[in-house]
Amino acid sequence: MTLLAASDEARDVHARYPAIDLHADTLMWSRWVDYDLRARHSPPLPRSALGGHVDIPRMREGGMGAQFFGLVSLPVLGRTRGLARAINEQIDALDATLAATPLLALTRTRADVEAANARGAMGALLGIEGAHALEGDLHNLEAFASRGVRYLGLLHFSANDAGFPAFGKGRRDEDGLSRFGCELVVRCESLGVIVDLSHINRRGFMDACELAHKPPIVSHTGVLGAYEHWRNIDDAQLRAVANLGGCVGIMFCPKYLGGDGLEPVVKHLTHIVNVCGEDAPALGSDWDGFIVPTRELADPTGLPQLTEALLASGMSERTIGKILRTNVLRVLGS
Ligand SMILES: [Zn+2]
Repeated sequence: MTLLAASDEARDVHARYPAIDLHADTLMWSRWVDYDLRARHSPPLPRSALGGHVDIPRMREGGMGAQFFGLVSLPVLGRTRGLARAINEQIDALDATLAATPLLALTRTRADVEAANARGAMGALLGIEGAHALEGDLHNLEAFASRGVRYLGLLHFSANDAGFPAFGKGRRDEDGLSRFGCELVVRCESLGVIVDLSHINRRGFMDACELAHKPPIVSHTGVLGAYEHWRNIDDAQLRAVANLGGCVGIMFCPKYLGGDGLEPVVKHLTHIVNVCGEDAPALGSDWDGFIVPTRELADPTGLPQLTEALLASGMSERTIGKILRTNVLRVLGS
């Protein structure tokens, strides 16, 4: 899919900092249509709309060190049962893949990712999208953590026990985290599960940051300072996450970034650096999440071109290394 070859310099930076992406929904496709991560896919639809973006061969070609896989459950028509099972089935699908290849390994910590990369494998990390997956039971959080889940996104596209979405069913802007949502933040921190503030409304976002003692993340978002859109977060939200030592992944979705191509991605990442420094920005593609990705980043093979564009914007190698990899490693912790 690579449209332009990246320079040697970009490839070199990229090789020293194998990229870690904070959010791709690939396992949803594995569960639904037996999408095989081991095979190289040509995206089935024009410009790889919606899915078919990530697989092991293209992750390797794009110089990736690890991919966070988002685990999705959809409470369609208010469905509240079978949600935890949907998550477990996606983890089962990953387990089956891992049993069949040495090229991808389940990782939980910085040390795990570094060890996997050192032996030529890439890390698979797990995060849940939406606390409705817990079916109101904190024991489910414990069970998911024991299977390797490292982050919990409190909200997705509908209101749930934890709070209200920035957009979607049951949206309510004036209310923040529920009591259960507050309990969840505390429980996540005690279990070593990172709190992900993607999709949550602003009130709930700020409530969670006020409660938090450990670094939260926003796994996939855009920023309002670069483009006005309901999906994006403002500077105060950025600072709230950065002050806690967290990081913010920028999506590769032109709709939310305000335009196609690499330039908008660079603009959003640069805005984060300008507002809260180089320790906050990260990658949060949202590949395989029903999005049409930006032209050059239609799949992981385009990542060295992003590195190239960041270099061309005047960003230092050190900052680029943090965006590609080390900010996420820091939040993962040892
Ligand atoms: Zn999402």
